[in-house]
Amino acid sequence: MKTIIEPFRIKSVEPIYFNTVEERKAILSGAFYNPFLIHSKDVLIDLLTDSGTSAMSSNQWAGIMQGDESYAGSPSFFRFEKTIQDITGMPLVIPTHQGRAAEKILFSIIGGKGKYIISNTLFDTTRANIEFSGAEGVDLICEEGKYPSIPAPFKGNIDTEALENFIKDKGAENIPLCIITITNNSGGGQPVSMQNIREVRRICTAYNIPMFIDACRFAENAYFIKLREEGYANKSIPEIVRELFSYADGCTMSAKKDAFANIGGFLAMHDESLALKCRNLLVITEGFPTYGGLAGRDLEAIAIGLVEVMDEYYLQYRIRSTEYLTNKLIAAGVPVMQPAGGHAVYIDSKAFLPHIPPHQYPGQALVGALYLEGGIRSVEIGSLMFGKYDADGILVPAQMELVRLAIPRRVYTQSHIDYVAEVIIEVFEKRNTIKGLRITEEPAMLRHFTAKLEQL
Ligand SMILES: *Cc1c(COP(=O)(O)O)cnc(C)c1O
Repeated sequence: MKTIIEPFRIKSVEPIYFNTVEERKAILSGAFYNPFLIHSKDVLIDLLTDSGTSAMSSNQWAGIMQGDESYAGSPSFFRFEKTIQDITGMPLVIPTHQGRAAEKILFSIIGGKGKYIISNTLFDTTRANIEFSGAEGVDLICEEGKYPSIPAPFKGNIDTEALENFIKDKGAENIPLCIITITNNSGGGQPVSMQNIREVRRICTAYNIPMFIDACRFAENAYFIKLREEGYANKSIPEIVRELFSYADGCTMSAKKDAFANIGGFLAMHDESLALKCRNLLVITEGFPTYGGLAGRDLEAIAIGLVEVMDEYYLQYRIRSTEYLTNKLIAAGVPVMQPAGGHAVYIDSKAFLPHIPPHQYPGQALVGALYLEGGIRSVEIGSLMFGKYDADGILVPAQMELVRLAIPRRVYTQSHIDYVAEVIIEVFEKRNTIKGLRITEEPAMLRHFTAKLEQL
């Protein structure tokens, strides 16, 4: 097989500002060893997130110019609406400024004290919006999804036996929704199989519980189904996507992921009375129902991106880039989550830096080392992000100490990715010299964004 090439030519470029290890040393300590406090101009390869960081196409930029900014009834909205109706088969489409705004509206209506919302794994903003409503979020990930180093084709699946037991235990009347996250972002970008979605649908129907999809990476998930699930090899991506949405009563989406947009999101559904309640809330929080927190140009860019993302050559390149980096790291003995997910590579920093205990934040130490060595920005998903303190002020570590390298869509080429692999492998070779960290300042909530640290 020949090299899989990037399925685009580059018409407009952004410079990378090079700096030296010495300069980065000063930048890193000046940013208190927190990548969120580093200015993006001081970063060579930015793998902090794949959210809102995609490169838009020339067609999307053309759409931006054609965006109609009328307050009500803009043709840009009707294009957005029709595109989403065609892709999902859902007739009622509500635009929001981001995914979390769609979640806030949905869970304000269906959440509340004493209720449970079930998922494979809830994304942080989804969980936060559920909990803010007073309801409880419940993750029922399948057994194979719990072990980072053991490969399996669909590690994002819901444990359907646990789902049925949970419903019987808590009572269907207390469960207003089951929401499947595709791909499973917080669980390493692992896909969910069509069979699992179908099975969850069957259970939800039996107990009369609505089922939604958190559709942020619907196209990446569909491509995994095509590659890995029996019976889908000869189906087109739009066909697979249409089947996948056909099992759901509705969906939430962040257009900052699989719509290549820099901002945006939406809610889509079948239920007229629920949509009416959502639109009533939309008007007081986001905006009028034909723009909902977005400009007409954003609606255009999203409509175009949603179609572009289902191109099979794009998806092949996308999934292959992540796998390519993962495989290079595996070959060099670097401990990573397996198999590769859709949008990111996850390094197991507990295994990478066994000499640094969790209370010295091995993930954050590795994030710093990758920046120092090669100007790569990544993010810790471990005890800095999820650690809590017990009554005596002792750190209760997170279950895993991961470092996530999220790959922005259509932004970096194979040589950038080769460079990333080289830097990680170099850092791995001198891992014994990496030192742990200590927190000097932290806020009460979401501390990873603003905490200050120093080297031990
Ligand atoms: C990003 C994301 C969200 C939230 O979307 P925002 O646009 O960042 O508000 C929700 N769910 C998943 C799975 C995500 O990846």
